[in-house]
Amino acid sequence: MATPKHSTSAKTCDVAGCEKEAERSISLKQVSKSSLSLKNPDAKSAHLCKDHYKTFKKDTKNDRGLDKVY
Ligand SMILES: [Zn+2]
Repeated sequence: MATPKHSTSAKTCDVAGCEKEAERSISLKQVSKSSLSLKNPDAKSAHLCKDHYKTFKKDTKNDRGLDKVY
């Protein structure tokens, strides 16, 4: 665990401060709509772990919901 290899198979979450295994790949445009801040803001896509993907979904859902609520 403490010795990361230069392998492309195992990706870690791109959210700043998160070291979990990435499960989803999201385009940066989508991520910028959420409250997540990334380690590499210049990337074209971001890899998210399960937890941050949940956060992302929540954030984007709320964003879309605003039109209906207000
Ligand atoms: Zn994460």
